[in-house]
Amino acid sequence: MSQFRIAIVGAGPAGYFAAQALQNSETEDRTFAIDMIERLPTPWGLVRSGVAPDHPKIKTVSKVFEKIAAVHNFRLFGNVELGTDISMSDLTSRYDAVIVATGSSLGRKLGIPGEELKGSLSAADFVPWYNGHPDFAGLEVPLDCDTAVVIGAGNVAMDVARMLALNPAELDPTDTADHAIAALKKSAMRRVILCARRGAEHAAFTSPELRELPKLEHTNVLMSAAEVEAALLRVGAEPEKDVKNNLGAMELITQKEPTSHERTLEFEFLLAPIEIHGRDRVEEIVLGINKIEGNKVISTGETKTIKCGLVISAIGYSAEPIDGVPFAQGKVDNNDGRVPHSNIYAVGWAKRGPSGVIGTNKSDAAEVVKLLVDDLPVLPKNAGDVSDLLKSHSIITQSHWEKINIAEVSAGEPLGKPRVKAVVKEELLKHAGY
Ligand code: NAP
Repeated sequence: MSQFRIAIVGAGPAGYFAAQALQNSETEDRTFAIDMIERLPTPWGLVRSGVAPDHPKIKTVSKVFEKIAAVHNFRLFGNVELGTDISMSDLTSRYDAVIVATGSSLGRKLGIPGEELKGSLSAADFVPWYNGHPDFAGLEVPLDCDTAVVIGAGNVAMDVARMLALNPAELDPTDTADHAIAALKKSAMRRVILCARRGAEHAAFTSPELRELPKLEHTNVLMSAAEVEAALLRVGAEPEKDVKNNLGAMELITQKEPTSHERTLEFEFLLAPIEIHGRDRVEEIVLGINKIEGNKVISTGETKTIKCGLVISAIGYSAEPIDGVPFAQGKVDNNDGRVPHSNIYAVGWAKRGPSGVIGTNKSDAAEVVKLLVDDLPVLPKNAGDVSDLLKSHSIITQSHWEKINIAEVSAGEPLGKPRVKAVVKEELLKHAGY
């Protein structure tokens, strides 16, 4: 019987699914001891700080994570930062293998003039702000304007636009951070315009997200019927399944009778950001008007200016580099998850970039763990862990996390919320009993 010690860095979906795949790969002759290392005092990654709070069903996957964490061979080392508290070489020299599951946390930049103005934010900062991530609780989000422009046509842009366009009272029964609900309630925001640089058929939204829009109770959702019809003509009789589903869902949006709600969420296609203007803060955005000729999206040379006080770009992410791990093109430099000439592996967005839904990480992690298991005979035999390095450190173990979880859930109960998140690290540690 051999036991292998595996460190997983990052307690998000990809990390948990990697742990599950390891648990599923145990045999009579082979067991794994899994240590999951997480920078924050809370686990669950994007399920806690990314998924939109008005989508509680998606968050139920955390029950799967807790089952994985309850297995005897799993230990959580929360509040432990790689690069500060421990190094990658501490891990690679103590564990048989290290799985990097640190995701993609940096927002891609538009690279246009005015992007640094106050009121121009990346979804990579705005989303964790409304989700109560401790690093973003103090973010300045100027909501004292009536119009916001969201750049991008993916599900993150859709989440951001919807969160801004909902009546904030609708967020009361959710786990949105208290500071965000208070700021949104005080806000003058009434018009949110999502701008896609290509046509409706090119949008990266998924159809379930589009299908919920006509059901919003306090927001008028506007989309040009002419653009959706034009997209349907462009894609012809046999479009790809996802495109067909998206355009079908968009048709339903265009067919909905406009209501008199004071809040609107508007979709604009074929508009590419060129420049943001403003003296001390965002005052307007200039967008280039595109058109489609043949299969190509090209500029018409004309522009459109939208007066707004907030611009949020949701145009993708890249991974934050880690000392001791090769990075290329915004992710870990890897071959199908293997980092050549090392005992390091990558899973999730750190491996493949920011694509796919939470469930995608399950099959992805299982494939990487299969390669890791194949490699076991040639991996170094290391028999240590990080406990000796963290003797005086406030580690959040699974039982500490359970205390935090209970404190947050109990605080939510009387308010009809799934939880009230603690957004300050010290408060989280206090909940944990430190
Ligand atoms: P995404 O799906 O890749 O969408 C990025 C969008 O940004 C695309 O529409 C892209 O347009 C646009 N874009 C890129 N560069 C641009 C630029 N310079 N100017 C204007 N637009 C630009 O990325 P995401 O929205 O960040 O989502 C990441 C992943 O998480 C996706 O797989 C998504 O489905 C998933 N997710 C899922 C959910 C859910 O299931 N509810 C929620 C959130 C996220 P082009 O196509 O023209 O490049």
